[in-house]
Amino acid sequence: MPLGELEAFLARWGKERYRARQIFRWIYRRFAEDFSAMTDLSKGFREALSGECRVSSPPVGKTDVSGDGTEKTLFRLEDGEAVESVLIPEEDRRTLCISSQAGCALRCGFCATGAAGFRRNMTSAEIVHQACFAAKRLAERGERLTNVVFMGMGEPLENPDEVARTIGILMSPFGFGLSGKRITVSTAGVIPGMLALAEAYPVSFAVSINAPRDDLRSKVMPINRKYPLKDLVAAMKRIPLRSGRKVTAEYVLLAGVNDSPRDAGDLARLLRGSRVKVNLIPFNAHGEGEFASPSPAAADRFREVLLSAGIQTITRERRGADIRAACGQLRGKYPLSPRRVVPILGGTKISGNER
Ligand code: SF4
Repeated sequence: MPLGELEAFLARWGKERYRARQIFRWIYRRFAEDFSAMTDLSKGFREALSGECRVSSPPVGKTDVSGDGTEKTLFRLEDGEAVESVLIPEEDRRTLCISSQAGCALRCGFCATGAAGFRRNMTSAEIVHQACFAAKRLAERGERLTNVVFMGMGEPLENPDEVARTIGILMSPFGFGLSGKRITVSTAGVIPGMLALAEAYPVSFAVSINAPRDDLRSKVMPINRKYPLKDLVAAMKRIPLRSGRKVTAEYVLLAGVNDSPRDAGDLARLLRGSRVKVNLIPFNAHGEGEFASPSPAAADRFREVLLSAGIQTITRERRGADIRAACGQLRGKYPLSPRRVVPILGGTKISGNER
């Protein structure tokens, strides 16, 4: 529950608002997993809480640690589904990449999660638990979680309400206290959800573009048939941005598919006039599927074309590839077939603006 919801819930028991803050601190700062540990609450209150509520902490499967320090953790959900999150240590940051759905319905051609199909939406409790687990692990080493990116399994804006509730907890000063600048929601381009969330929270957005023309993008990302590039780029321009901030345009480079200089030129023209920075992501081969990683020369050439068009562009470092934790490689425990795809495009309701 975001703070406001918890306050309202406790008000029905006649409890003061600060009680909700106390509980938040216990859960998100001291990682208590049981109300009995919350010793500044009266015994009777703790018992009442234990009778009606639960601090959700789904069992953690295993954590794989990559040679570059990246850690991938498997979480088992109560109904047997499984999701993964990835903790990426960098010099001055500890970034957690979290999942928001078990599987994904959008079937982007290059993505292992999409290939496994959609299982179900995660609850905010399940989503935020990934952050609690990582923050606790970091605290044990005297470190702190600094950034959260919704780039794990699933399309966050196909699960907009639970993602918004999670963001409320991440941003609450009594929760994780992260600023919107440190939270990035990555979307395949669910336009209504993106605009609704941008209204509700000042988070950062990363939009997967992945092809500069509709014909090609529809092949790589079927969602393009519903939200084509022209509409998507127009929507990106409508995201309110504080000064100096930009929307990130993600572009997975697929050898021989979308990595030619012509593609780079078309992308530069498409993004002209937008406040964007481009993240180039050389495809991480995950063993199945038709795509291959681009050559370093092709990736460099692509970047040069964008830079010479005046577009800020970086090529993302590949992290965690040896433990299948890199972009597009997460798939929980699911086999890649048979496909179980449920078309759920279109859910866009965002509620709550909890801080
Ligand atoms: S890239 Fe993202 S939206 Fe596309 S199938 Fe994978 S998880 Fe879903």
